[in-house]
Order: sequence, then C-alpha cells, then structure tokens
Amino acid sequence: MERIVLLVDMNAFYISCEMSRNSALKNIPAAVAGDPQNRTGIVLAANYSARNYGVKTAMTLHEAFKKCPDLVTIAPDHTFYNQRSKEVMSYLHHFSPVIEQNSIDEAWLDITGTEKLFGSPFQVAEKIMTGLKNELDLWCSIGISDNKFLSKMAADMKKPLGITELWPKNITDKLWPMPAQAMYGVGNKTMEKLKALKISTIGEIAAADVSTLVTHLGSVGMDLHRKANGIDSSPVVPHLKDEMKSIGRSTTLKTDAYAADSVRSIFLSLAEDVGIRARNHRKKGTTIQITIKFNDFKSITRQTTTTPTFYTKDLFDMGFALLKKHWPAAKGVRLIGISLTGFDSIDDGRQMSMFDSLNIDSPENKLNNSYKIDEVMDSIRKKHGSTIVSRASLIDKQDT
Ligand SMILES: [Mg+2]
Repeated sequence: MERIVLLVDMNAFYISCEMSRNSALKNIPAAVAGDPQNRTGIVLAANYSARNYGVKTAMTLHEAFKKCPDLVTIAPDHTFYNQRSKEVMSYLHHFSPVIEQNSIDEAWLDITGTEKLFGSPFQVAEKIMTGLKNELDLWCSIGISDNKFLSKMAADMKKPLGITELWPKNITDKLWPMPAQAMYGVGNKTMEKLKALKISTIGEIAAADVSTLVTHLGSVGMDLHRKANGIDSSPVVPHLKDEMKSIGRSTTLKTDAYAADSVRSIFLSLAEDVGIRARNHRKKGTTIQITIKFNDFKSITRQTTTTPTFYTKDLFDMGFALLKKHWPAAKGVRLIGISLTGFDSIDDGRQMSMFDSLNIDSPENKLNNSYKIDEVMDSIRKKHGSTIVSRASLIDKQDT
C-alpha cells in the first residue's frame, strides 16, 4: 500500500501563541523577540502583519524597528509555547497514533489507511487545518506526500494556511526548479560543497552522478540524491506512549460566557474528547485540571485528585463541579479547558472490544452504566468515525 504522510507545520508559532491569548495583537504588527529592552535582540517570530512591513525571523530588533517603527515586541514565554505545542500534538492524535514530532511547531503523521475514517489525504489535511484554527486558534500549513521528505518540502510551499500535495510524479515541475539551499537537509556547509560542484538547484542534485556526490559529501550525498529524486523510505517513528504527561483540550468560546451552565454542553464535549483519548491510550489519570480564561485575559487553573479514571462521566462530573465552584462572579469567560494528568500505566494488554463492553460482569462496568456507554461509544467510533456518536444530547436530556 502506498504510504500517506502529512507534515503539519504551525505558522509563526510563537507569535501565534501570543495572539491566541491576546487577540489585540492580531490586528497590529507584532513579534516575539529576545530581549526587547535591548535593541540588539533578534526577532524569533513575526506575525503576518509585521511580515508585510518586511520584518523577518532572525532579523535584529534594530533592523526590524527600521522596517516597522510601530512593531510591538513580546518577550518569549517558552513554558507557554511548550504547553500550546502539547495541545497541538494531542489534537493531531485524533487523526493518527503514528505521529513524529520534528520540532516544537511541526510533526509528521502517517495516515496510511485512514481514508474510510477521515476521507482523502486532502480532506484529512483540511480537517486538521480548520480544527487547529477553530479549536486552538492556531494556524498551520500542511504538506502531503508518500514520504517524510516530500511532505516537509510541500508544507513550505504555501503559507500561511496552505495545503500542498507533492507526490513523486510532481517533482519535476514543483521540486526540481527550486534552489538547492531550499532543500530540507541542505545547510550552509553542504551548500558550499554543492556550489563547488556547480550545483545550484534541487534538479541538479537529482541529476548529479551519485559517486561524485558521495566523494564530496559522504553518505549525505547519497541521501540528498535519493531525496531529490523523491525517494525517502524513513518511517514516521511515533512517540513513546510514556512521553505523554497530560491529555487536555480547551476551546475559545464564540462569545464571552457569564454562567457555567451556559457552557455545560461545550464542557461536556471537551471532557468527552479527553476521555476518548485517554481510553485510546489506556491511560488513567489521578488529576483533573480545569482552565478558565477571563475576558480580561487573566486565567486560572484549578485541580482535583481522584482515584485513577479515564471515564467521561468522571471527567465531566469532577471538572464541571470545579468549573462551577471557580466561575467568576463579575467577569466574562472566554476560554475553558480540561485536562487529565497523573497517569499510572494501566496497559494490561487487553484490547477493548464490543464484547468486553457488553460484559456486565466486568467490575468496571458494574460501577456505572455510563462507563459502559463510554466503551460502546468508543467502539462505534473506531468502526464508523469520530463524529458519528455524540453523548452531549444524551446526558443533557438525562439531567434535565
Ligand atoms: Mg516549523
């Protein structure tokens, strides 16, 4: 079977994270920059409005202010960017368990064989792009191919919010005319050596004599030659499960909310989502945490501990109780979130199946009918796709 590999690359990631928590930055030229007090600092990420003035990554602030005197600069907050990066990666887990994070703002997904669930590769990419935009308020570009190298090259071809397919059959037109220094894997040192061989485009690397490349570049020469010809058999190596420290989901509300009950069903779908992922990974957590961001952009997190659980009902009941308890008296709320942490490993090697979930003698299912619903719904989702069943209306009806 032909592989299908996506590279999801977040656009202007650091500044986009800042814009997601302070929307005032969205309409003005802004950049995350090292040491804004000191004009010798450099731009780490500029938003698209600043880019229109010619502000670029790695430019000194001195230069950046010359291009754009009104540029607003923000000191980097790496803890926050790491947290947002984790949210991106856990969102991507909806689409495939085979995810290899390449950096804080990009990852490969092997989505081979998911057509029945999510549609064509382009449709999957569209779902991911709109999902990240709507759920996390972050933009991305996506490259699609049958291997990691071509998907990476494709993702860079259309930014921001671009989806580009680059299959081996397209490389003569789309890849070969590109300059060699634009090739993923070609740094300054390699470029010097290629120049010495009078090679300046990717097409010239593809057409070059392999033994000449190997003589001058060693094994890198062989690798570049294969990739320039569209060949890359390296697998997408998934993260180890144990690297997962938390599973969380948050959403920015369409309008500010003033009562916890008005966000009840939204909160339920967030809890549902966290529960599904925790159960897919067989991870029971002991800490349920909620996030509330107010309309003055301040935010709080509150947590509660529990016996290990991954059930939606537990997540929702405990999470929503926290949300109600800490709901502000006088301020509006613009974002709510829930996460599960404190995992113990419960991987008992048992695959959940429809039969398990219908086995009423299992101690887990004796506890509460809702737990059984979780497992039945999970297996329906696995068979028919993630949107087919939703619990929200069900529980709402039960409780009213
Ligand atoms: Mg990137």
